[in-house]
Amino acid sequence: MTTRKYKELVEQRTRQTLQEWSDLPLVDEKDIYRFLHNLKGTAGTVGLGRVEKLADHSLLYFSEESGRGWPEAEWGEYLYPLLELFGDRPEMGNTPPGLPLQEGKALSALQPQHEILIIDDDVGLVAFLRESLEKESYYVSIALSAERGLKIFYESKPDLILLDILLPDQSGIDVLKQIIGKAKKERIPIIIVSGEHSKEIQMYAYSLGVMDYMAKPLDIDLFLVLIKNRFELKREWQESIILDELTGAFNRKYFNQTMKQLGSDFRRTGRIFSLALMDLDHFKLVNDTYGHLVGDEVLQAFSEVARLSIRVEDTFCRFGGEEFALFMPNTDASSALLVVERIQQQLAANKFTAKNERFQVTFSGGITEIREEQNDPDKLIEEADQAMYASKHTGRNRTTLYTDQLGAAKAAPLLNVIVVDDDALLCRIVTGLFAAWEPAGIAGVKVSSYASGPQFLQSGWYDPEEKYIILLDGVMPELDGLEVLERVRSSYPEINILVIMLTGRNDQHDIIHALQMGADDYVIKPFHLPELLTRIERLAHRFLF
Ligand code: GH3
Ligand code: MG
Ligand code: MG
Repeated sequence: MTTRKYKELVEQRTRQTLQEWSDLPLVDEKDIYRFLHNLKGTAGTVGLGRVEKLADHSLLYFSEESGRGWPEAEWGEYLYPLLELFGDRPEMGNTPPGLPLQEGKALSALQPQHEILIIDDDVGLVAFLRESLEKESYYVSIALSAERGLKIFYESKPDLILLDILLPDQSGIDVLKQIIGKAKKERIPIIIVSGEHSKEIQMYAYSLGVMDYMAKPLDIDLFLVLIKNRFELKREWQESIILDELTGAFNRKYFNQTMKQLGSDFRRTGRIFSLALMDLDHFKLVNDTYGHLVGDEVLQAFSEVARLSIRVEDTFCRFGGEEFALFMPNTDASSALLVVERIQQQLAANKFTAKNERFQVTFSGGITEIREEQNDPDKLIEEADQAMYASKHTGRNRTTLYTDQLGAAKAAPLLNVIVVDDDALLCRIVTGLFAAWEPAGIAGVKVSSYASGPQFLQSGWYDPEEKYIILLDGVMPELDGLEVLERVRSSYPEINILVIMLTGRNDQHDIIHALQMGADDYVIKPFHLPELLTRIERLAHRFLF
């Protein structure tokens, strides 16, 4: 569907509703209120700015609580003028910010954006910073507590961290102590932003290794230049390195170079090579059970084991997160299998200890070999990936060789997008939007929508093997969004479920509440569709790296 199509839908629904109402002697005031409220949100979203404004303005005359009935002569005065505002006249000053919607295309062209993690419980400041930073095209993750900040730090690998000193659960200094080692290694700048800025605490923070210390209230201009400067520094550093700092394996950049090199060798001399991908099994569980520091040790130990099991001409890389890659020149797939299985045995012999428990770690592997007819690096990675996923699906802790028959198996995961909103039209629009969406790295998107909280909760939507992004309307009649959020968070594991709250413009209170109760992000209604897509794609990356 095109954006124009959406506008037509909104117009159609509006006309239809007014038509139906004109046949009634009286219309309930709360129905009118609800209609205008929804129209305001939807119109703004599809870019009907003038309709949005008039709906918003007219809302003042109606109340959700009132039991009064309105005759057409009276409601018509407020509602019929809306119909004149649809149509093709260009709207002034209402072009949605950001890119025009390109349907069916991934927004990955926008990537990589820099991701900034804000750990701060001052919601007003957080909302302001988020808006200012997003205007500069940074992507922002929010944590109102230390606990959540730590979780996002490990899971989404931000490029820069803004940390407050006074947090509800732990002090920012304690958070700092937990992350500074890793942040320094990976050159993630940490900037303290705090109302508390005595000389002592600043000296202490600098001595621990923070990059900058900024006092609240912030000067936003100063702040934005500083951040830009820090990213510049980081980029220069990144260009100069080829090793992953945590594990000592080659990094993704070096992986790309090696792939290019071996590919051109093959074309020139016919020298073959194999590529193996190895992904640690249930690694999230290791983090959740023993903590991220132990998780890091496991990654290091695995790298060590792998490097000791390979030949000098092989290249071992960290592909991302807990996924590693191994290039084996002059090696066909079946010989490569022996190498990877050897690593598998060595790793099995390695016992880890944490929290007075001994545990073992395994991985799933996938192997492919370069062939004449297939010479595209992306294709090769995809094949190894498909083989790796086949190993996951057949029980993990094993390695699979790629064959054409695997093609049918899903390499990348499925993403479920669920919309829970009582505005049926909005549901339809969002559903239509996602049906045409093909994000990079995701095999497919499945969209479903529910008109109310109870309908959603009772639908049996959950499958522990799948990943979900839930868009939750804050204000719904039977069970409001916050209650639904609470039930989702208390009844299902947090892994694999990300929640975006859709909130009204002035519901600061709702935003605080939603974030505190475990929403991952929020979008203010009316929102623009491209903004929503970008947000969701970015959030989805937490599942997939
Ligand atoms: P599967 O067997 O299906 O691969 O399950 P999994 O839990 O290993 O897979 P998933 O990809 O869902 O989770 C990977 C986790 O790895 C998520 C992330 O928190 C964690 N991770 C990624 N990089 C690091 C890191 O540098 N350190 C630590 N401690 N954890 C990391
Ligand atoms: Mg894994
Ligand atoms: Mg993984």
